[in-house]
Amino acid sequence: MIGLRLPDFARHSPRVATVLGQNPGPFTGPGTNTYLLGTDGHPILLDTGQGVPIYPDNLAAALAELCQAEAPAGIVLTHAHPDHIGGVKQLRERFGALEVRKLPWPERDPAGAPIIAIARDAVIEAEGVTLQAVFTPGHAPDHLCYYLVEEKALFTGDVVLGAGTTVIPDDSGDLGQYLDSLHRLLELDLETIYPAHGPVIRKPKEKIREYLAHRELRERQVLAALADGPHEVTTIVKRIYFDVPEHLHRAAASSVRSHLKKLRNEGRVVEHEERWNLA
Ligand SMILES: [Zn+2]
Repeated sequence: MIGLRLPDFARHSPRVATVLGQNPGPFTGPGTNTYLLGTDGHPILLDTGQGVPIYPDNLAAALAELCQAEAPAGIVLTHAHPDHIGGVKQLRERFGALEVRKLPWPERDPAGAPIIAIARDAVIEAEGVTLQAVFTPGHAPDHLCYYLVEEKALFTGDVVLGAGTTVIPDDSGDLGQYLDSLHRLLELDLETIYPAHGPVIRKPKEKIREYLAHRELRERQVLAALADGPHEVTTIVKRIYFDVPEHLHRAAASSVRSHLKKLRNEGRVVEHEERWNLA
């Protein structure tokens, strides 16, 4: 995923253009995809990247070349993780006091930018564009996907990615909620997924089912690793992620803890002094 390269900006359809956040890394792939949505000179911007210095210049170039616009009409956010909200401050400095809309998460929302709270089922409109918010907690408690009615397309933020799988943080995430969110997305009439990381997905249902299957496999692996338990999380990680480089084991441990929390909620595993066992 790290080796994958995407253009600095590109147009996907008459309504959708993308500008890369220029923040590649092990958890962001080629970087965060931000999207310009609208058919006239006043597109709205979905997500803002991480705050990388070159990004506002690239956004300005994309606005001019792809949208005949000088500034975005406003900002809409999928969730409050730093690689999505990190650009809010620099963009308000560059383009003026843009309005910022999201589902509130007061502990994490960007300081200094007044957030306009939107509802879990908000509808946001721009020229030629109707965006229907879809509440999809699990990766983050404030996560909204946005359904583009005119294209049967879904902006999935970090719920479904174009490459790799998403991390469910064991502190603020919730794997049970995440799986419910994926099931809810399966019910939509979908032709395209525009993810926050990686390339556009043209077989959306297949990808969502693949994500569900991946988590089911991990759950079976966690349960299998506990067959001769009790074990600490690090032992479970070493067994399941034996083929994954050591520097990614912290993220893997977070994912394993998310599985254990879900299984404990379901009464299938128990914890005693940081050692986990089958119930
Ligand atoms: Zn995120």
